[in-house]
Parts: sequence; structure tokens; C-alpha cells
Amino acid sequence: MNPRKACVLRDTLFVVGFIIMLAAYIYEPLIVIGAIVMFSGLIPHFRYNRCPHCGKQLGRNEEKYCQHCGQPVDE
Ligand SMILES: [Zn+2]
Repeated sequence: MNPRKACVLRDTLFVVGFIIMLAAYIYEPLIVIGAIVMFSGLIPHFRYNRCPHCGKQLGRNEEKYCQHCGQPVDE
């Protein structure tokens, strides 16, 4: 998985988790499921949001190039 896909996956899980938590107004136990989905979005963020060349965390860097080594992030 490349950092861009990890980013999309993280955002998707956050949005889906948020929607599930909103649905908890109707059915309360959903708040737990929503929280799990949202937190699972942190896994691809920390695991795959790294530069493929130097292995450092890209953090909030959404650019095409790594801020640490200057290599292109997309493989
Ligand atoms: Zn790098």
C-alpha cells in the first residue's frame, strides 16, 4: 500500500465512523462501532503513511515529494 492509498483509506474510515456515530442517536450501541471504525483509520495512517525511500513518517505532508529526502512518494 502506498501513502496516498493509506491517506484515502484513513479519510474514508473517519467519514464512515463519523456517520455511524451520528446514527448512534437512533441506536445507541452504534457509538462503539463508530469509534472502532474511526480508530481503525489510524492504523493505515501510522503504518503506511511513510516515505518508501527513507521510511520516515510523512505526517501531514500531502505533497508528491517526501519532505525528508525529496524523493517522489508515489511508487
Ligand atoms: Zn523520504
